[in-house]
Amino acid sequence: MQEIYNFSAGPAVMPKPVLKQIQNEMMSYRGSGQSVLEMSHRSSLFQEIIKKAEETLRALMQIPDEYDVLFLQGGASLQFTMVPLNLGIKKAGYIHTGIWAKKAIQEAEKLADLEVAVLASSAAKNFTYIPEITSVPQYLDYVHLTTNNTIEGTAFYTLPKTGDVPLVGDLSSNILSFDYDVKDFGLIYAGAQKNMGPAGMTVVIVRKDLLGKKKGLPAMIDYKLQAENDSMYNTPPTFAIYAAGLVFDWLKKQGGIKEMEQRSRQKAQLLYETLDASSLFYSSVAKKDRSLTTIPFMTGNSDLDDQFIKEAEKVGLVNLKGHRSVGGMRASLYNAFPLTGVETLTAFMQDFEQQNGG
Ligand code: PLP
Repeated sequence: MQEIYNFSAGPAVMPKPVLKQIQNEMMSYRGSGQSVLEMSHRSSLFQEIIKKAEETLRALMQIPDEYDVLFLQGGASLQFTMVPLNLGIKKAGYIHTGIWAKKAIQEAEKLADLEVAVLASSAAKNFTYIPEITSVPQYLDYVHLTTNNTIEGTAFYTLPKTGDVPLVGDLSSNILSFDYDVKDFGLIYAGAQKNMGPAGMTVVIVRKDLLGKKKGLPAMIDYKLQAENDSMYNTPPTFAIYAAGLVFDWLKKQGGIKEMEQRSRQKAQLLYETLDASSLFYSSVAKKDRSLTTIPFMTGNSDLDDQFIKEAEKVGLVNLKGHRSVGGMRASLYNAFPLTGVETLTAFMQDFEQQNGG
């Protein structure tokens, strides 16, 4: 069978050994006679699964004890609301670097009591770079940023200095691919479906002193309550937690985040070098801010882009269509995506360029 390379932005490619393990354990988890799909979340078997998933994630990201790790539902999008509801008392700062950042801003603006300040924005240049944040007012409740802009293809490599103001990061599309220091954040969140496992689970890593700042929140959106109940206030996304736990184990075996970052650099470098050497394809993103995991590129001719996407699909390079707001192509190179896939793509790009006039 033809090798398929899946460039999807999410849900995205999973490590093959993890899929194999899930398949092996699907009917009977480690001789228990039960599938994880059938298991009570209160059972000792599942308690072990969730505890181990948390421990491995803590080890991978070196999460200090003063942070809680939560496995929640509602996607990263629910965090756009939970963050301001839990942490926003008077005024919050946001860095506007793209469509997902905008959604976070819009949800915060819906809260009547909260003032929202946009501290920096790259909107005027189509979000093709990361804006500089020169000063952060110390009266803010938090500053929110999107570490990797999944649609526009930029990433923060240096985090802004926010002083005593907690930094909140949406790490959905580069968690576990770039070695951020958890201690630089008050709160981190990420949907699982790119680098961690199946859709349906969202990881939240929150510093304990930020819990309980607001009273009387609805139960499901109260971090404190979720933390007190070890993410089991209601039925958690059990299967997604199990699968993410296996991805964490796989990642640890590969050498952890540092190794993933190294591999991400290698994969991204090959594609960027090909783009920069091409007279047909290009990237519009400022070089210093180019993402390691999200690489949009185009020819500048939408018909030719469509032709490229169609022909690429025929040779097994799938899900390369760019987001509708940016157009062109987008290669998402998450942790489970192999270097051979980038080698195949870049060779195909060079052939296409030869045939279609560079
Ligand atoms: N934030 C970022 C950076 C994303 O890339 C995405 C999805 O692609 C989201 C938030 C929304 O995630 P979800 O679909 O889990 O709500």
